[in-house]
Amino acid sequence: MYHVNENGYYGEFGGAYVPEILHGHVEHLRTNYLTIMQEPAFQAEVDQLLRDYVGRPSPLYKAERLSERYGCTVYLKREDLNHTGAHKINNTIGQIVLAKRLGKTRIIAETGAGQHGVATATVCALMNLDCVVYMGKTDVERQALNVQKMKMLGATVVPVTSGNMTLKDATNEALRDWCCNPADTFYVIGSTVGPHPYPDMVARFQSVISREMKAQLLEKEGRDYPDYLIACVGGGSNAAGAFYHYLDETRTKLVAVEAAGKGLETEETAACLQLGRLGILHGSKSLIMQTEDGQIIEPYSISAGLDYPGVGPIHANLYRCGRLQVLAATDDQALAAATELTRMEGIIPALESSHALAALPQLTFKPDDVVVINLSGRGDKDMDTYIAHFNPTAL
Ligand SMILES: *Cc1c(COP(=O)(O)O)cnc(C)c1O
Repeated sequence: MYHVNENGYYGEFGGAYVPEILHGHVEHLRTNYLTIMQEPAFQAEVDQLLRDYVGRPSPLYKAERLSERYGCTVYLKREDLNHTGAHKINNTIGQIVLAKRLGKTRIIAETGAGQHGVATATVCALMNLDCVVYMGKTDVERQALNVQKMKMLGATVVPVTSGNMTLKDATNEALRDWCCNPADTFYVIGSTVGPHPYPDMVARFQSVISREMKAQLLEKEGRDYPDYLIACVGGGSNAAGAFYHYLDETRTKLVAVEAAGKGLETEETAACLQLGRLGILHGSKSLIMQTEDGQIIEPYSISAGLDYPGVGPIHANLYRCGRLQVLAATDDQALAAATELTRMEGIIPALESSHALAALPQLTFKPDDVVVINLSGRGDKDMDTYIAHFNPTAL
């Protein structure tokens, strides 16, 4: 019920709305991805890289002081400890090993904050593949360190000057490149968005998060499921990976936190699940921030990883079905949650992950509740923002 059907839909969401020229290539991917992903040799290669290169399994860490504050048992799934600092590399490794199996020699990707671009450039360096990353010019300027990392890793970074010069425009440009070079090029999409089979493929590559979580909870708590499982949602990949093996586990409440930006009632927000309307963006039907006549409304969040105008069709459907509780955190709530984690547990979280942490004060727990928060990434990349927003004497 919650998984993709054979036509690529989750309820009324999803599908593969691609230009004619890409149809055959998306179809080729669709008919091959599951077979390749199930090959023992493929799984062995991916698993070995996840273990020895990424550093998996990522720990499930019991946050004692947070637990005490919120009156329950709080665990953090430490995706922040992965190589390159976030969950994104789980997906880039999977897709790039798959691209090699399909005989592709050139990799393209879009990136907003640069995290997916860095994860893609990293694996391309490892595998000796050509890599082109499309990035809005505004983001190129805002995220200079990640641009330098991608270049040092050998990728070509193409600044995109159309539209608002951010992630949506970079994605359009990557799709355009793919249309021109479909034979040798594989498009590595960074979240559970895009035409089918991308949302399902990305969710499967990220599902290692909940696979590990089950074994870790069983060992620590004597049961393999939590009462609450909380993740932030941009396009939805870290949430999809954290939720994947719990979709049918009705004892687990799934909680998604989207970026409210300056507030749900303002124009400056990125809360697509709560405020979006049905539409088609980047090849799939989902909930999208758009005007009455279908123009994309530029989303806003303090966190560059959450300001995408759409959301994965998986999450739109889970929300529509009532399986997913959706909360929002404003910039200020996320900053407060980042400070709290830093001061109480000695972990500086990514701004995106801080939105998930900001769910804690919004929920009411029972003393025996087990709560897992997917800590999707670390805060190194966000230090400029943290420094700009904190008054050091107030800390
Ligand atoms: C990119 C990113 C996100 C948002 O992307 P999803 O696909 O929704 O997971 C969240 N956290 C971190 C650390 C990121 O880099």
